[in-house]
Amino acid sequence: MKLELHWKIIIGLVLGLAFGVLAAAQGWGGFTADWIAPFGKIFINLLKLIAVPLVLSSLITGVASLSDLKKLSRIGGKTITIYIATTAIAVTIGLVAVNILQPGDTVPEEMKVKLLDTYQSAASGKMEAAEQVKERSVLQPIVDMVPSNFFSSASNNRNMLQVVFVAILVGIALIQIPKEKARPVLEFMEGVNDLVIKLVDNIMLMAPIGVFALIADTITSVAGNNLQNVLELLGALGFYMLAVIIGLILQMMITYTSVLKIFSKMSLKKFYQGIAPAQLLAFSTSSSGATLPVTMERCEDELGVSEEVSSFVLPLGATINMDGTALYQAVAAVFIAQTLGMDLTIGAQLTIVLTAVLASIGTAAVPGAGIIMLVIILEAIGVPSAGIALILGVDRILDMMRTVTNVTGDASVAVAVASSEGQLSS
Ligand code: ASP
Repeated sequence: MKLELHWKIIIGLVLGLAFGVLAAAQGWGGFTADWIAPFGKIFINLLKLIAVPLVLSSLITGVASLSDLKKLSRIGGKTITIYIATTAIAVTIGLVAVNILQPGDTVPEEMKVKLLDTYQSAASGKMEAAEQVKERSVLQPIVDMVPSNFFSSASNNRNMLQVVFVAILVGIALIQIPKEKARPVLEFMEGVNDLVIKLVDNIMLMAPIGVFALIADTITSVAGNNLQNVLELLGALGFYMLAVIIGLILQMMITYTSVLKIFSKMSLKKFYQGIAPAQLLAFSTSSSGATLPVTMERCEDELGVSEEVSSFVLPLGATINMDGTALYQAVAAVFIAQTLGMDLTIGAQLTIVLTAVLASIGTAAVPGAGIIMLVIILEAIGVPSAGIALILGVDRILDMMRTVTNVTGDASVAVAVASSEGQLSS
């Protein structure tokens, strides 16, 4: 019997988990870093390697196959509206969860002091990074989308929005020039696109090993050869983590189910079976950017989303739609305020909704980006940003989970938009 890919990945994940715990308990952190972690790095690099050619080739062919440009702006408008709406709902769910559970009241006083002390220097690093983001003008994100040199944008996966922008420009111009001139370019791009999709398949053969290595390494790095520390941390911050996790699950159960039901007829079983490998990868890599090639492939091949829609909606989603991150930022902001004994007014909570939606748009699709934007939210509501020291110890674990929600959100919107455009094959 041939085991399905997601089962193989799950086996890799569970073994990685078991090995990671054993390694942390036995003090094999050095061995894991030297001999196991590199395989995870290789796997992530391979995924990142194909992200730019994939987005470029599929988006150019996608846009150029649109018969009229009105359709492009309609798809764009719909996508962005649903993205913003689902993010606003995510933040609201996060706020409700944290206000009901009140996790900030459960942290013992001496643990508070210890956490603030231990993570003080790590926190100031994040605060400096946030300072740089803050110095930018309001329109800077739009300016940043337009590259002055295409090769420099294609040389860094963080510039994915620039690649998206260039691909749309090229796709539009291809519609405008005579067909016989456009044909060779398009055929080339289509060939590249098929090639890259095959590469995704081939790279995914390594997924079980890659995931094993990533998880084992994450556990030993978080635990740092001392499992006792982690258990203590999990005990003190358990309620806070619970609030985030419950929120993330509710977002998937309520919001994405509604999006799928309102816009399409797809069953939840088909949806989750289709995107399971992407979710598992999001969990293991904590990066929606690295997961993007797999999200695109699964949405097209398993869920029947047309290339035209998936190549526009998903790269955009990976960069600007981060529901899990926004939800986590809301919970974390209120938790920090609660722990520091500050009461947040309704006005401050509304400010959180607004800033978290904006901050999640500006959050890069890489591990740990969410906490940097959290600093900005804290400053907007007048909570000392050094408070992030309280939650840094468990941030990586929550990063894995929020990234799963981020990727699931992108995929559900891709299905919704495709279905509403009559571009969902069953
Ligand atoms: N790791 C997240 C992502 O890539 C971003 C974050 O919340 O830190 O989706």
